[in-house]
Amino acid sequence: MTANLLDFDLDGLAAFCDQLGEKRFRATQLFRWIHQRGESNFDQMTDLAKSLREKLKVHAHVAGLSVLSRHDSADGTIKWLFNVGDGNAVEAVFIPEDDRGTLCISSQAGCAVGCRFCSTGHQGFSRNLSTGEIVAQLWFAEHFLRRHLNTPDRVISNVVMMGMGEPLQNFSALVPALKTMLDDHGYGLSRRRVTVSTSGVVPMMQRLSQDCPVALAVSLHAPNDPLRDNLVPLNRKYPIAELLDACNQYLEFAPRDFITFEYCMLDGVNDTPEHAQQLVKLVRQHATGKGVWCKFNLIPFNPFPASGLLRSPAPQVQAFAKILLDAGIVTTVRKTRGDDIDAACGQLAGDVRDRTRVNERIAQQRTIVLKPVTDLTANNKEA
Ligand code: SAH
Ligand code: SF4
Repeated sequence: MTANLLDFDLDGLAAFCDQLGEKRFRATQLFRWIHQRGESNFDQMTDLAKSLREKLKVHAHVAGLSVLSRHDSADGTIKWLFNVGDGNAVEAVFIPEDDRGTLCISSQAGCAVGCRFCSTGHQGFSRNLSTGEIVAQLWFAEHFLRRHLNTPDRVISNVVMMGMGEPLQNFSALVPALKTMLDDHGYGLSRRRVTVSTSGVVPMMQRLSQDCPVALAVSLHAPNDPLRDNLVPLNRKYPIAELLDACNQYLEFAPRDFITFEYCMLDGVNDTPEHAQQLVKLVRQHATGKGVWCKFNLIPFNPFPASGLLRSPAPQVQAFAKILLDAGIVTTVRKTRGDDIDAACGQLAGDVRDRTRVNERIAQQRTIVLKPVTDLTANNKEA
C-alpha cells in the first residue's frame, strides 16, 4: 500500500520525504503542488526532479474522496456528499458571503455523542475520518470552486468543523488536518478563521489549546445540567461547570478573546425567557476579568421527523436574543442558508444510513442536482 499524501501535514510530509532520501524543501514544494495548486498527478509537478517523481509514483498517491452528490442552493450555498466507503457518506457545505467564503466540514462518519436534536447523532457512530479524509473535503472544495468560479484566487477563507461528527473525539486525525489548513504552504488560513465546534469534550479542549489553538465554538444548548444531560448526553460526563472552566482555560491560548456558544432553539424545550435569564446568570458567574468572553449564536433548529422536536417560532428567538443582548452579551441569530437543500448538520447523509439499500440510494443521490451545473466537465471530472 502506498501513502496517501493528503494524510500528512507539512512535518509529516517532510518525514515521509526523509524516508525517501529527500530534503525538507522538496516536501515543501510537493505540499504546495498538492494543496495550493490542487495537483494530484506527480508527472505534472514539473519543478520536482524526475527521480523524485519516479519515487513518488512507487511509494505515494494523492487520493481525494468521490462525490456522491452535489446540491446547489438558490442562495449560492453548495453541499457535497462524499463517499467514505462501506455505505458511509459525509458532507461538506460551502457558504458564500460578501466578505468571506466558509466551508463547513465533517470529522467523523456518524457521531457517538447522540444529541437529541441532531440527525447525525441519531445515526450513531460509524468511524473516525482519517486526516486525509478531513483535508480532502477542503482540497476538493477549494479547487472545485476555483474552477467553477473561474478564479485563480483563494475562494475559501474560513473553515468550520461543524459538519458531521465530534472533532474532539477524533483528535489525532484532527490536529494534522488543522495544521495543513493553517500552513502558509497549505491553505494559509489564520487561526481566527478556523473554528472547531465541540459538544464539550473537556480534556481534549485542553489538548487543543496546547497542540493547535484555533477559534472554538462550544455547543451549549441548555442553561442547566438536567436539561443539557437530556439534550447533549456528553454533559453527564462533563457537566456545565467543568465545561465553562475549560472554556476559560482555553481562552488563555485562543486566537480570539471569546468563545462562541452555539444554542439550538427548540420550541418549548430550551427557548423560554427563564432559560435566557439562567444563561445570563451562568455566563456571568464564569466570566473572568472584564469584557465579554463569550458570544452566543442562536441556531434555528433544522427539524427532522425522528427527533420529535420543533423549531422555535421567530418571535420566541427574538425575545430570547433580546434578553441576552440587554445583559450585554453579543448575540447573533444564525441565518438559515441553503434551506432548499437541507444544508444543516447531518441532514442529507441521514438518507444513506440504511446500508442494506445504500447502493440504490447512492444511485438516486447522483441524480439530485437542484440547479443545473454550469461547468459540467469540472463536475464530471470530480465525480
Ligand atoms: N459535534 C460538534 C460539531 C458538529 S455539529 C458539535 O456538536 O458542536 C455543529 C453544530 O450544529 C452544533 O452546534 C450542533 O448543535 C448543530 N446542530 C446539530 N443538529 C442540528 C439541527 N438539526 N438543527 C440545527 N443545528 C443543529
Ligand atoms: Fe455529534 Fe455534534 Fe451532532 Fe451532537 S450535535 S450528535 S456532538 S455531531
